[in-house]
Amino acid sequence: MKAAFLIEKNKIEIREIENPKIKNEDEVLVKIKSVGVCGSDIHYYKEGRIGDFIVKEPLILGHESSGIIEEVGKSVKDLKVGDRVAIEPGIPCRKCSYCKEGRYNLCADVKFFATPPINGTFCEYIVHPSDFLYKLPENISFDEATLIEPFSVGIHACNLINLRPGEKILISGLGPVGLLSGLSAKLNGAIVYGIEKNKKRIEIAEKIGFEYVFDTEKIEIKEIKNNIEEKFDVIFECSGNSFLIEETINWVKRGGRIVFIGMGTDFVNFNILKLTIDEIKISGIFRYANTYKKAISLLSKNRIDLKNFISKKFSLIDVKEALEYPIKNPDCIKVIVNP
Ligand SMILES: [Zn+2]
Ligand SMILES: [Zn+2]
Repeated sequence: MKAAFLIEKNKIEIREIENPKIKNEDEVLVKIKSVGVCGSDIHYYKEGRIGDFIVKEPLILGHESSGIIEEVGKSVKDLKVGDRVAIEPGIPCRKCSYCKEGRYNLCADVKFFATPPINGTFCEYIVHPSDFLYKLPENISFDEATLIEPFSVGIHACNLINLRPGEKILISGLGPVGLLSGLSAKLNGAIVYGIEKNKKRIEIAEKIGFEYVFDTEKIEIKEIKNNIEEKFDVIFECSGNSFLIEETINWVKRGGRIVFIGMGTDFVNFNILKLTIDEIKISGIFRYANTYKKAISLLSKNRIDLKNFISKKFSLIDVKEALEYPIKNPDCIKVIVNP
């Protein structure tokens, strides 16, 4: 099969390699149909590393994927050849205390696609354990199914802080994860507001049901607090931008919750005194656990049209262009690779 390898910073090579084979009875051979390009893929492509994860050997990127089943292992019962599936990209150890508690996103031994040295899905076939594959309903396309992965982050955030119907939430930074976190809050019954400067993103936010978006091309970040009628129950900070992070404390009401989702700046000035006096709960979140079934059901039942999220599509041999497109096109939301 063909696979796109990141050889070193800024260098992608299409190589012919052997097809993967089923080794365990519970595994499934999946033909990859669609892969979303994530910010982390672009980061590895540009920098050759994310923090302590360094690309030392050629690595296949891509982790937001869907496909069709070509072969199933002997003990696989609930999936069959020809089923269309969403692919959850992280396989945890299943043995540690986090795995036992169902918080497997915190497992130290997770094997996550496109995180060195684990290969991802910019290739034609993968072999995957059957319980990390989820059957897709007719009304979710392969391309739309790639959004289940970033959508899962939003669902996990809503679960973690126990978001309740009718609560008012503000999402700062409306990239794909910000938009999809807003969508997941909305589908949980919350009233969703946003902060963003890009026109295209604001347009999509309004289409998927955001109540109002503060446009930071028109209003200073520091001024937002003076333009909020009633403070928010919950803030999802998705930008990773220090100016926005520092302001979150001024947008949330007493007793409210702030979740830091976006990765960017690592150190910020934060008003801890206000945090204490206002009894604010703060949480980070990392990936997700047990979200795929809920994500598929929410998207399918609510018939959310996700086509607006997909800005451009590329074939496997053009992975390099796919990784560069979002850098050159600030209006781009999601790029898709179809192997
Ligand atoms: Zn991703
Ligand atoms: Zn584990």
